[in-house]
Amino acid sequence: DKAPVKRALISVSDKTGLIEAAKALVELGVELVSTGGTKAAIAAAGLAVKDVSDLTGFPEMMDGRVKTLHPIVHGGLLGVRDAPAHKAAMSEHGIGGIDLLYVNLYPFEETVAKGGDFAECVENIDIGGPAMIRSAAKNHGYVAVCTDPADMAEVLAALKAEGATTLALRKQLAARAYARTAAYDAAISAWFAQAVGDEAPTRKAFAGQLVQTMRYGENPHQKAAFYRYANPRAGVATARQLQGKELSYNNINDTDAAFELVAEFDPAASAAVAIIKHANPCGVATGADLKAAYLKALECDAVSAFGGIVALNRKLDGAAAEEIAKIFTEVVIAPDADEDAIAVFAKRKNLRLLVTGGLPDPLAGGETFRSVSGGFLVQSRDAARITAADLKIVTKRAPTPREIEDMLFAFTVAKHTKSNAVIYAKDGQTAGIGAGQMNRRDSARIAALRAAEAAEAAGLPQSLAKGSACASDAFFPFADGLLQAVEAGATAVIQPGGSIRDDEVIAAADEAGIAMAFTGTRVFRH
Ligand code: 5GP
Repeated sequence: DKAPVKRALISVSDKTGLIEAAKALVELGVELVSTGGTKAAIAAAGLAVKDVSDLTGFPEMMDGRVKTLHPIVHGGLLGVRDAPAHKAAMSEHGIGGIDLLYVNLYPFEETVAKGGDFAECVENIDIGGPAMIRSAAKNHGYVAVCTDPADMAEVLAALKAEGATTLALRKQLAARAYARTAAYDAAISAWFAQAVGDEAPTRKAFAGQLVQTMRYGENPHQKAAFYRYANPRAGVATARQLQGKELSYNNINDTDAAFELVAEFDPAASAAVAIIKHANPCGVATGADLKAAYLKALECDAVSAFGGIVALNRKLDGAAAEEIAKIFTEVVIAPDADEDAIAVFAKRKNLRLLVTGGLPDPLAGGETFRSVSGGFLVQSRDAARITAADLKIVTKRAPTPREIEDMLFAFTVAKHTKSNAVIYAKDGQTAGIGAGQMNRRDSARIAALRAAEAAEAAGLPQSLAKGSACASDAFFPFADGLLQAVEAGATAVIQPGGSIRDDEVIAAADEAGIAMAFTGTRVFRH
């Protein structure tokens, strides 16, 4: 898989470091070919270099719009060196192989940034450069492609050490090269879209395939659309809608939150149901079957569940569908639905039923994006998974096995709840959820209130939080949030730990006689 470099084509707008690279290549015995300005710069440094025009027999023309767009160049980049037909074509047409391409593109982004006018920006759209980069990257089996000085340095190091590039390096270079041409075209499309006052094409360039244009976005005065990646993982983007009105922006956002949460629970171990409102869970439960799990999830906060999104981790059956159909529900999403369930929902014309064929992998890699003014943030997915083995027990009293189960369940729900999140859970059921507050004590207080009200609504003598485990998505900075949980009836607490007042919080837990474990992992969600 080693490929030597006999001939290199260099065509760079930004000539920083050009002479050093050219000199190093000449010293390694590489023949250089270049376009006008690049050739002039190399020749001025006293190095031997051929002009692309000498190879093609065509001059550069049309203000440089056509320089390298010629079969002699692209054949040299694209020819498969050990394919007999390609070899024959190369010798018949006098096409010599080009083993290394070093191109940086016309400064389109810089021209836009410095406020170039329309015509100037258009003239700075590089055509031949991206074409050559794409040709060389496609033929990475034989050709090394460099699009910046760092790439060039890596190739030179390989040539000096081994006299050749490895296939692994050439593949890496190809991946970077396509990222560069993609970013370049994205910049062109963003600029063009802005210039013509239609930003829709830009979203397509960034995100992929248009799934749906909505009547409006998060609010009626906002426009919206839904895009799917080229190779989506199972989830809301791959869902098939079996019935109901068209999905709205908020529906899709909430449905995604619901399905990601329910996917945390292995369907082989238990049925799991999550009810979501405004991207926060208002009830989550596991059970022997979906109906049991749904009823437990609903019990946690039946008021908020009205108009909610229901996600299930198993094939939806008729019994669970009957229960779900009893209150107004916007969307139901499940890996699949049986005939009975479909028949039940057929009477609820407005209910949107989605099936996906599978669950999202909660441990999958990938990235998440968020826009900020003038840019966007990227981070790896939160694939945190806390197990009993990760827990560090910090109190005198150790949690019971049942408490540990409740703690892990509650912490999993906390991971899918907006910060600050405090969750009470017992026997595979959320008892109370406090989401999105600016201080942790308020979240604990709201969760306790929900648990008390849920019990009252169900006619139970004591709060659902009595004997529960309490999870906090980040450490308790003071003992007050923990005391709030104790007051609500929690007997066990799970939290990341790591506060400078951990000792104070642990002492308060010991004094209350509860068990507490640290996860060492924080699960903020905003
Ligand atoms: P030079 O300074 O060598 O005259 O031009 C180098 C620039 O020309 C590079 O940025 C390269 O991407 C670009 N380039 C190379 N071939 C072509 C072509 O055929 N058409 C256009 N528009 N640009 C090209």
